This record gives sequence, structure tokens and C-alpha cells, in this order.
Amino acid sequence: MAVSQAIPITRHPYADGSYKKMLIDGQWVDAASGKKFETHNPATGELLATVAEGDAEDINRAVAAARRAFEGPWSKVKPFERQNLLLKLADLVEKNFEELSQLDTLDMGAPISRTRGTRLRVLGMLRYYAGQATALHGETIENSLPGEIFSYTLKEPVGVVGAIIPWNSPLTASVWKIGPAIATGCTVVLKPAEEAPLRLAELCMEAGIPPGVVNVVPGYGETAGAALSSHSGVDKVAFTGSHVTGQAIVRASAGNLKRVSLELGGKSPDIVFADADLDAAVPGAAMAVFANSGQICSAGTRLFVEHKIYDEFVGRVAEFGKKLQVGNGLDPNTQIGPLVSAEQMKRVSGYLSIGQQEGAKALTGGTPLTEGALSKGYFVAPTVFANVQDNMRIAQEEIFGPVISAISFKDTDELIARANATTFGLGSGVWTTNVSKAHQVAKSLRAGSVWVNCYQAMDPAVPFGGYKMSGYGRESGKQHLEEYLNVKAVWIKTG
Ligand code: NAP
Ligand code: MG
Repeated sequence: MAVSQAIPITRHPYADGSYKKMLIDGQWVDAASGKKFETHNPATGELLATVAEGDAEDINRAVAAARRAFEGPWSKVKPFERQNLLLKLADLVEKNFEELSQLDTLDMGAPISRTRGTRLRVLGMLRYYAGQATALHGETIENSLPGEIFSYTLKEPVGVVGAIIPWNSPLTASVWKIGPAIATGCTVVLKPAEEAPLRLAELCMEAGIPPGVVNVVPGYGETAGAALSSHSGVDKVAFTGSHVTGQAIVRASAGNLKRVSLELGGKSPDIVFADADLDAAVPGAAMAVFANSGQICSAGTRLFVEHKIYDEFVGRVAEFGKKLQVGNGLDPNTQIGPLVSAEQMKRVSGYLSIGQQEGAKALTGGTPLTEGALSKGYFVAPTVFANVQDNMRIAQEEIFGPVISAISFKDTDELIARANATTFGLGSGVWTTNVSKAHQVAKSLRAGSVWVNCYQAMDPAVPFGGYKMSGYGRESGKQHLEEYLNVKAVWIKTG
């Protein structure tokens, strides 16, 4: 396995070990408790920043500020102005994109090629939401009541949004919450997992987004996150994270029956038929899991391969995995960075042992990487498990690491039932050159996205989200805006 060397970095202006405050009502403030937490580079263990640690009291302050803004000046801001604010923010994000990419890499370990590669998506999202800000509209609806009575609908912002995001793609995840909130005229309190979104918050202020519209309160899930999701002043929670936390969010939302949207985890099937273009399917299936070290919610971790080509195909995927360059994400040659934390390393290593105990065979990987330059970080070798059976834990549970569970199948009907036999339903992949088969399988899979002869294609205009325990609600596309809007019916008797 090739190991890339960490290149010496000039200290990042936003990850130089200094102290970062939280943003409430347009002001950078300390936590009311005075508490702070540290964030470290998962590739090297270096201290990146000390961050103000928000808890319930800071959430109270932020929600109050978001409420004042929502009911006050922000409610008078016209769609065209909200559009301009988002376009300004997009320009600032574009101007500072290299710095933001490096910050995401430092923060959670992803290869710089990957964080730079989110450029089109992140800018596209901000500009798409900008466009949508002036495209929101109600409808006039023909009714059947006797007499003259006219009916129409208004689309109104849902109010104060509590946004809670994970660490695996901080910039993209933040934009995915802040963008639709601004487009629809909501205000937002964002509880990120790490410090990277604070830099985005600075750019929001620079773009001229009024005080209180975007507030960022870093802190822990059990304190700040729980306070936000149970707060009676919050009208909607937009959550991305694990299904276990998602369940806690739903319970916490019951007090004021707030609106909830959930983008949760998955155990997505990626299906390779014998008639597939294997030269495309090998790297496609490998990177559907190994990208971001497997820390992607829609990773195609259950690799179903038609039995006729199983040994050859799975062997080729393992060869591909073996050649990937693992190392510090700041090295432009790195293809696989570290896992995000010691906790995540423990979790993934646990599954590597479980897989072997269950009788699966690691064709490549199967162990943490702890030698030389990798010793200070949380590195795991890209792993391909063969001989995996449907009921094994490594075929059922989300690992969130670079681990492929390769399963053999014979006929298509049996395959569909097995592919759908999971509590999740986020992504799915199909590799075939047979067009009818592609359509048939795409229709039968119970998942929010089906990728045929590709994996993880995403676009701001195309909805993304889950079936079953992968959550509800959609991000991207017009459906995303609806999650942030209320519909009001107005009746006017004209006769
Ligand atoms: P997580 O543990 O569920 O955490 C997600 C966020 O929720 C973090 O900000 C966390 O704070 C916070 N949180 C934790 N407990 C909470 C509580 N009781 N109340 C309110 N908030 C709470 O997930 P993760 O480990 O960070 O991320 C991995 C998971 O996210 C995976 O399951 C993955 O599939 C999923 N994910 C889904 C998508 C998608 O779009 N569908 C995208 C990315 C990730 P702290 O971490 O600071 O404690
Ligand atoms: Mg967590």
C-alpha cells in the first residue's frame, strides 16, 4: 500500500490553535458558561483551535436573536434582496474557497482533492438557492363551493430553524442548511460538530446578512444539540446525522410539535450485474465506499455482485483498494485520509474484528494503519470483505469507514428482496449495460437515490434524502425549499 507523506503546511489562518467565539445576533461572543473545547487534526493530532462551547443558555440567546430577526427586520426583506445576499455569500465563498477546502481537510481529514472538489457543488447550491428565493409562489386554486368564493395559497417561511449537522463534510452540510433558510426568509441557529462552519459564518456577516438571521453555536450534542431540538422557540429542526440521534431529535421535537427533517445514515446496496462495463464498475464500486474514508451517508457499502463474476470482480476491487494512497489529506497525492476521530477509529476497528469473527474474508485491508507517518492519526486500510452473508452485522450495520461487504447473488428477483432487506434506504447503485434491467431495478429499490453506472452524483436541483430509517424530507431541489415553508390557504368571498 502506498503511503503519502504529510507535506509541511504553513499554518492555516483559521486553524492556528487560536480561540474562536460563537456567533449570536451578529456578535462574536464567549459561551455564557465560559467553557471551551479543543479541535485537533485527525491526521496528526495537532491542535487546530479552541472553540467556545455552547450549551442550553447560549442556545436560548441564539434562538431569541433568531426570533427577533424573524419577526422584525428580516420579515421585511424582499425575495430579491435575499437572493442578492446569497449571491454575495456565494462570491465570498468562491473567493475564499481554497482556504475553506484546507480548513475542511484539517478539520476532518478528507483529502484536499476531495474538499477542493466540492467547489462546484457548494457554489452551485448557494446560487441555486439564490435563484429559488425569487421563484417561491403560492397557487390560485379553483374550488367547487357554491357562490363566489376565491381561494389561493401563500408560501410563508416556517420561522426559526434549528440546524444540527455532523462532521463529515462541514462546509457542504452548513450550506445545505443555511442556503434554503435564507432563500425562504427563515432564520437559523446552526449547531455544527466542529469549528469549520464558523468561518462560513464570518463570510455570512461579510456578505451583509443581517444580525440574528444566521447564528452559529458550536457545542456538544447532548447539551447544545438537545437544547436546540427541544426548544419551544424553534419552529423546525433540520438534522443530519445518525438514525439514533435522529430518533432522539424526533422525541425532543414533541414538546411544541416542531417540524422535523432528517438526513440519516444508510447501508446502501451497490449492485453489479455480469453484463456491466467492469472497467468502469471496479473504480466506481470501490470509490462508492472508499471516498472520504467511507464517511459518507450514502456510501455503497453492500456490494452485491452477480455470482458468475463475483471472484474476478471482488478481486479487482480489492486490487484497486490496495493501490490507493493513504495519508495526510493536505498532500495532493493522498486519496484516502484518516478517520475523523479516535472514537470513529475504535468503532471501525471493532467492525473489522466483527467481520473476521463472522467468517468474512478480508481480501485487502482489515486493519488500522499505525506505522510511520500514519502513527499519529486515525488511519484504516481500505478494506474489502468477501464471503459476506446478508445477516452478518457487517452487512446490516452502518460502519462509516472504508469497508466494503461483498455479497454474491444469482437471480434478479431474489436480489431485489435482499437489497431491500435493510432498515435503511438512502442510496443505491446499479451497474449494467442492459437498459431495461436498469429501469426495472431502479424502480424496485426502496431508496431515495438510485445511481445507474455511476455513484453519488449530486446536483443542487435534484432532491436527495432517505426512505425508511434513512430519514424523511429532502435536501436539494424544489422539495428542499418546501421543508422551510408553510402553506397558508386564503379564502375570499367575492359574491
Ligand atoms: P451523530 O452522532 O448523530 O451527530 C450528528 C450531530 O448531532 C452532531 O452535531 C452531534 O453533536 C449532534 N447530536 C448528538 N447527540 C444529540 C442529541 N441528543 N440531540 C441533538 N443533537 C445531537 O452523527 P455523526 O457521528 O456526527 O455523523 C455520522 C452519521 O451521520 C452517520 O450515521 C451518517 O450516515 C450520517 N450522515 C447522514 C447524511 C445524510 O445526508 N443523510 C450526511 C452525513 C452524515 P456532537 O457530535 O458534537 O456531539
Ligand atoms: Mg457524534
